[in-house]
Amino acid sequence: MIGIDAGGTKILGVVLDPNRAVEHELRTTWRERTTDATVELLIEFCRELEKAVGEVQAFGFGLPALVPSARGAIPYSTHLPLEGVDFRVRAAQALGRPVAVDNDVNCALRGEVAMGAAVDRQNVVMLTLGTGIGGALLLDGQLYRGARGFAAELGHIPIAKDGPPCQGKCPGRGCLEALASGGALGRAARELAERDPESTLGQALLAGAEIDGALVTDLALAGDRQAQALIATVGEHLGVGLAAFANAFDPELILIGGGLARAGELLLGPARRVLEQRALPAIREQVQVELAGLGERAGAIGAAIMAAELCAREE
Ligand SMILES: [Zn+2]
Repeated sequence: MIGIDAGGTKILGVVLDPNRAVEHELRTTWRERTTDATVELLIEFCRELEKAVGEVQAFGFGLPALVPSARGAIPYSTHLPLEGVDFRVRAAQALGRPVAVDNDVNCALRGEVAMGAAVDRQNVVMLTLGTGIGGALLLDGQLYRGARGFAAELGHIPIAKDGPPCQGKCPGRGCLEALASGGALGRAARELAERDPESTLGQALLAGAEIDGALVTDLALAGDRQAQALIATVGEHLGVGLAAFANAFDPELILIGGGLARAGELLLGPARRVLEQRALPAIREQVQVELAGLGERAGAIGAAIMAAELCAREE
């Protein structure tokens, strides 16, 4: 099975053998940002993977978009020009075999449940912290999809009524994504760099570096106290969101993935502290907050597993 994780900046593909081991892996970056070029690149990428391993039975795609459960066009896509495209139909026609498509974080959670940090778990909340925040829910052992397949946009849960405006096309304010994402971290870091030119971040700004969440994470891991404090603040906002999710879903496990998860305990420590202060005591005692286990491969592995499940259903 081939699984593709089509991210905002890069594309990662894996081929899983029948024992679900990663047989082959390939990555590439986007070229032209038009709808046709995007679809064609993904198809070409599948053919490239097949050249390495031979013909596969089905394909799975994880997209950073709202993906309808049933047939139909994608109504909202943050990073890729796929709005209005029935990607499942277009890809299946081009590839001539069954195609499964889902939201990228749903795919990542599938991967984590199959062979990552959520094996044998039944109730899991997953958040991926990158430029934005993606979410997925496993409830009673099933991915929770909502009425049309769009559920679990956990980054757009408001945690502050008059907070900063959210990103992308979200009309909200004070969403978790506006306060606890890599984008939010980058904004806070730019403010600090401008306010304090003597700081490491200020120096980096003067040297012409891009001040973003990745740079703050690097500096924090290298021991810079101001960068660590910025991450701790993001962690506290995250903790408010986690308390809401704990109270709403009573999960056994909350998994944190995405680029910002590299900050590890610098982020998770403050998040756990706030979760413990804010969630109902009987619930919080049972909730573990852990890093996702499969790293950047989670989405592609989950997409391949989704393709295998599609074949099993059709047989
Ligand atoms: Zn929002």
